[in-house]
Amino acid sequence: MTRSAGSTWAGWACPPEVYAQPVQELIDELGRLPGIGPKSAQRIAFHLLKLPKEDALRLVRSISEVKERISFCTRCWNVAEGELCGICADERREAGVLCVVEEPRDVVAIEKTQEFRGRYHVLQGAISPIEGIGPDQLRVKELLARLEPEGITEVILCTNPNIEGEATAMYLARLLAPLGVRTTRIASGLPVGGDLEYADELTLGRALQGRREVEA
Ligand SMILES: [Zn+2]
Repeated sequence: MTRSAGSTWAGWACPPEVYAQPVQELIDELGRLPGIGPKSAQRIAFHLLKLPKEDALRLVRSISEVKERISFCTRCWNVAEGELCGICADERREAGVLCVVEEPRDVVAIEKTQEFRGRYHVLQGAISPIEGIGPDQLRVKELLARLEPEGITEVILCTNPNIEGEATAMYLARLLAPLGVRTTRIASGLPVGGDLEYADELTLGRALQGRREVEA
């Protein structure tokens, strides 16, 4: 590469491209996924480049299928194929008791315990000032809107036993206190700082059984 006289490298807005543009775009997209740093993004991108085309396209198809067929339950915000998720659509579930969780994967963790027969409400996150997530970004309004029409008598706060999960539980407890709904929190005994999804079924089942009233 030749440079015209007088031009300086300092004039470059960014360093010359290291990768071909499609590769760089793939690395950038992968790097936006949760828990994937720049190094992992590069490693995954080069893994995909090495894969036989058919294997890589299978991944593309499964992403596009999920985006086309799966959305969120209009009642509880769990993942759903259709308007309602399988749990909301199941008439045998106990009406009146709601288990409030952060993410759809927490529903799976609690279902595995076979200790809970009510329905869920998925907040789709937890309050986190550091990440700029407040109650308005969560499905809190939608939770309050369910209480009366569904005749909810108890709300079990099953958010994670970490700082964000506790803050979210306390916020909801204060919000629910004047509304005449019994509000309980799963018992301690879960590893502090952990995630519900990593708790074993027995521990999580006991935490549910041993839930206590929350003093807001
Ligand atoms: Zn649902």
